[in-house]
Amino acid sequence: MSDLPLVALRPRLLLLEDSLTEAEQLLGWLLSTFDITHVTSVAAAVALLKEPGVDVALIDLCVDDSRELATFLRCHEAAPHVPFVVQSGIDDQETALAAVAAGAQDYLVKRSFTAELVRRSLRYAIERSRIEAELRETRERYRLALAGANDGVWDWDIVAGRFVVSERWHSMLGYSLADVGDEVEGWLGLLHPSDRDEVWELLQAHLGGEAPHFEVEHRILHADGGWRWVRTRGLAVRNAGGLATRIAGSQGDITERRNAEARLVCAATTDGLTGLANRSSFVERLRGAMARSAEAGDRGCAVLFLDLDRFKVVNDGLGHHVGDRLLVAVAQRLRMTVRPSDIVARFGGDEFALLVERMDSHAQVEELAARIHRSLARPFTLGSDQLHASASVGIVFHTGDGVTSDEVLRNADIAMYRSKRLGRGCTEVFNERDHAQVAQRLDLENGLRRAIREGELVVHYQPIVRLPEGSLVGFESLVRWRTPDGRMMPPADFIPIAEETGLINELGSWVLRTACLRMAELARVQPDTAELTVSVNISPRQFVEDSFVEEIERVLAATGLAPRRLGLEITETVLMESPAVAAQTLHRIRALGVRVLLDDFGMGYSSLSYLRRFPIDCLKIDRTFTQSVPGHAEDEAIMQAILTLADALGLEVVAEGVESEEQRLHLSGLHCGYAQGFYFSHPLEAIEVDTVLATATRQPFGSRPRPRLPLPAPRRLAEVRHRG
Ligand code: C2E
Ligand code: MG
Ligand code: MG
Repeated sequence: MSDLPLVALRPRLLLLEDSLTEAEQLLGWLLSTFDITHVTSVAAAVALLKEPGVDVALIDLCVDDSRELATFLRCHEAAPHVPFVVQSGIDDQETALAAVAAGAQDYLVKRSFTAELVRRSLRYAIERSRIEAELRETRERYRLALAGANDGVWDWDIVAGRFVVSERWHSMLGYSLADVGDEVEGWLGLLHPSDRDEVWELLQAHLGGEAPHFEVEHRILHADGGWRWVRTRGLAVRNAGGLATRIAGSQGDITERRNAEARLVCAATTDGLTGLANRSSFVERLRGAMARSAEAGDRGCAVLFLDLDRFKVVNDGLGHHVGDRLLVAVAQRLRMTVRPSDIVARFGGDEFALLVERMDSHAQVEELAARIHRSLARPFTLGSDQLHASASVGIVFHTGDGVTSDEVLRNADIAMYRSKRLGRGCTEVFNERDHAQVAQRLDLENGLRRAIREGELVVHYQPIVRLPEGSLVGFESLVRWRTPDGRMMPPADFIPIAEETGLINELGSWVLRTACLRMAELARVQPDTAELTVSVNISPRQFVEDSFVEEIERVLAATGLAPRRLGLEITETVLMESPAVAAQTLHRIRALGVRVLLDDFGMGYSSLSYLRRFPIDCLKIDRTFTQSVPGHAEDEAIMQAILTLADALGLEVVAEGVESEEQRLHLSGLHCGYAQGFYFSHPLEAIEVDTVLATATRQPFGSRPRPRLPLPAPRRLAEVRHRG
């Protein structure tokens, strides 16, 4: 952008003079300093001026083809940036002055100038014109820079008490010139009340010389009534004594950047679905609250952990969109139930957490939990669906006793789990007893991981026999854990932990493979065992795995076990959680030729309707039932009803937990098809199975009952066990 006139060492002078005598005199004076082109008419001068290259023009206002001001104006129009010095007659100084007012650099009165005066006037004209051009250039550059930077400019003349802002500043904030006035107070009045003090302090700090710059981000009122974020910068001008006399600077709109930042912060700290706090921001708040709890006089804080009951049923049964809407609605209810100062967060899935800072009393928090239960108990209307929800709540009270936030959350989680076990919609408060249990549980969990890895698990096989004669039809596989100290740990002590931690999937797969392999091998060595069945207990968590059916297929293929020899024992929980999915899975299992047994029937809900709705082959009646039967009229009636119904539906029935001859006879009398229990045999180690097979009579499972036979086998089975 350098169109500044480059003035040559010998500047080019255009001389307009129609008097040849006068021209000659001037040429004589000026030729040593200038390259001179002499013309006598305005027309010729204009033609030359339109070409580049003229550095300065000396023109007589009265020439043949033009007079007075018009002469100057025509020339000046042809080359606005060329500096002009005009000559006028002694009696026409008025016109000369008018020419200067119109843009001429200087004027000379004819016959009253000397060579030196003309030379100096021309030199100054060139110099002034160059400075003007430079100034124009600077201004233009400044204007472009401001327009490009999008910033408004402000200028406060402290001495004169004038505050001026640029046009761009006005358009940025939607004001007209009159709206703001020219005093600094007008501008200050537009600042956000929360930011005003800070802006003023920083401004004073710079003016007072304490801060090298003035720079601050703050909100300012837009004419539309909204707030804009701006960045204001300024630099003071000081007098010789260092006192600030003036400060000027820029103000740029940074609203979008601030909003984007705010959105980022928001995304990082809130849960996208519900708009509640997320886990990380909850933890941060919790840490703050815990730090304050340590201070004297604070009663501490409480964390409530909340997990929706049976949320999976909604999600799987009605679809994720309904599940999501339920979560949003639950979040709303929670928000409405707590005080504004309490924090509600979603930790993901159907887990929520509440932080009660500065709690008044334990009772207050327990009452809050009760309010939450009541609030969730009202049905949720989501479109055409009406849903009922409940949650299990765990509470931890924290009073500043040197635990970490992680521990607080874990303890709340433990309390929540305990409340889950009590049923739906319960609340449990964490206590120190839980703590010991947790430590133990963690040990167990780690141990179990090792057990799976190091092969410490073993499978035992408990015979299932046909009634009344007691001939062997198959086995139930039952897992045990042989701990490194040689103890045989029963499944009740580690299956629940395996289920909670998800280890059950790995563990269950291992049992399935082991049992199938064992039975398949047995049939290869002893072909007459080829009809014996084996049933495997399946945890709900295994059952809902996407690849569960494929896994069974794979295991059957890998071990070579005939599908009809395998039975899967499931519990009612599996059917209740999501009936539609369960039915589908069961059909696929049956399509493989694998049998389905409903375990522990008589416990829990024992809905007889399951028997019709689901493809089940066999009921296993829980031992509490079996054992209470003789003499207990009501149980006996129920037992009879179950057996009759099962018969009508074509289901087999296995009575579990038969321990005495009396029970066996009784069940036989009721025409119960099969039995299992210590009376016939304890669960056997794999090696003992071989011994038993050598002696026991066998029957295929599922063949119709036969007339009673003598019963040597059961006792022999029992003896084997007692010898081992
Ligand atoms: P279950 O499936 O109902 O297994 C029957 C339980 O009753 C076994 O206990 C068995 O030893 C016991 N039992 C058999 N006959 C009698 C009797 O006459 N009297 C008495 N009092 N008890 C008898 P166990 O082996 O301790 O297993 C307990 C539960 O652990 C099983 O109940 C089953 O639910 C679970 N379980 C065992 N193995 C596995 C497995 O591999 N996977 C899964 N998911 N669960 C398993
Ligand atoms: Mg079982
Ligand atoms: Mg059972």
